[in-house]
Amino acid sequence: MIRVRIAPSPTGIPHIGNTRTALFNYLFARRNKGKFILRIEDTDQKRVVPGAEEAIYEILEWLGLHVDAKFKQSERLDLYKEASQILLRQKNARMEEGAVRFIVPKGRVIEWVDMVGNKNISFKSDDIEDFIVLKSDGYPTYHLANIVDDHLMEISHVIRGDEWISSTPKHILLYESLGWDQPIFAHLPVILGPDKTKLSKRHGAKSVLDYRNEGILKEALLNFMAFLGWATKGDKEILSIAEIIALFDLKDVNTNPPIFNIDKLLWFNGHYIRTMPVHKLVSSIKHQVLNMRDKDNELIKKIVPLAQTRMKTLKDFVQLAAHFFEEPKTELSQKEKMIADQLTKRFSTMEQWNNGTILVAIKNVMASENVRMPIIYKIITGQDRGLPLPESIEILGKEKTLERLKRLIS
Ligand code: GLU
Repeated sequence: MIRVRIAPSPTGIPHIGNTRTALFNYLFARRNKGKFILRIEDTDQKRVVPGAEEAIYEILEWLGLHVDAKFKQSERLDLYKEASQILLRQKNARMEEGAVRFIVPKGRVIEWVDMVGNKNISFKSDDIEDFIVLKSDGYPTYHLANIVDDHLMEISHVIRGDEWISSTPKHILLYESLGWDQPIFAHLPVILGPDKTKLSKRHGAKSVLDYRNEGILKEALLNFMAFLGWATKGDKEILSIAEIIALFDLKDVNTNPPIFNIDKLLWFNGHYIRTMPVHKLVSSIKHQVLNMRDKDNELIKKIVPLAQTRMKTLKDFVQLAAHFFEEPKTELSQKEKMIADQLTKRFSTMEQWNNGTILVAIKNVMASENVRMPIIYKIITGQDRGLPLPESIEILGKEKTLERLKRLIS
């Protein structure tokens, strides 16, 4: 039985690195009909950040990475204490000022075959110092709690970032001392920025909640993250989560560090926005980026098809549609007032109100006043470009358009 886990420490809001780890674990579990477990590693109480644990749940929920079981290490302290007592009894560890320190055996080579790249990794035990497994406050350190839980939770594969490689020999020694089988290890190459240095905010990397709030669709983020270190045979790039699950194999994880490219994420996002059914897009816009739950749903539904091809993020909608919800605060020049006056005259006599008739009216005004489209844009919307104007005016409606022009002229 395949059983994997993610073991985030609630020391900050999850970023793209630990969320990619979560995704790969999820994919591996679902691909192999295994279990996907969440374990909150909160034993370093000083570093716990309020809200971080909730953010972990929120992100998994948003992305649809549903877990099969959930644990929290601070609720399992007795188990770690018990393991440390075994180590003490067996003389694998010694008490030191209330803490338990594991004694690393000398002259050993510790090695394992890592599933990523199928490569042999080895460490000399002489290079590893004795290390604390239980602190004097009764809390375990990461190493002990991690292996006790991976053992008790029957984790078959430990899939984690390669920053943990240097911890693995310590874990292997602990498994050995406790007489437990060790899991298979798969260390994912760290994600780098375009300049090949460690990924950071400087490269446009943000907390995953920030991506959500800025209007990245979960479908785009999942598709994008899947390719951070993994690749399929063919050249198909747009893949649903179901397709990724069907194709996912840890053997195809690349040993080279993947490069984070924000433009690629926006490319995926634009694609998913353009191809999404309008009603789904409306709901994502309302829930993700707008405090519009109480705003005019019908109006949003009408604007979305116009905006859909022009948005890279859901947030672009806010800007593109702003003037529908709030009267633009434009000051018109004398000349512009004259144009507005002409528009009023043409619009008010129109019997049929649709983008075709509106376009004719606008063109007539443009010809008689010898002006170009951007001025008309500015008068009606307060912006000098945006969504197609005749369609926008049609949606705004005759009454509102005329009211708006009247206010601008006076
Ligand atoms: N608590 C560690 C973390 O924050 C877990 C590492 C592991 O997966 O073993 O990533």
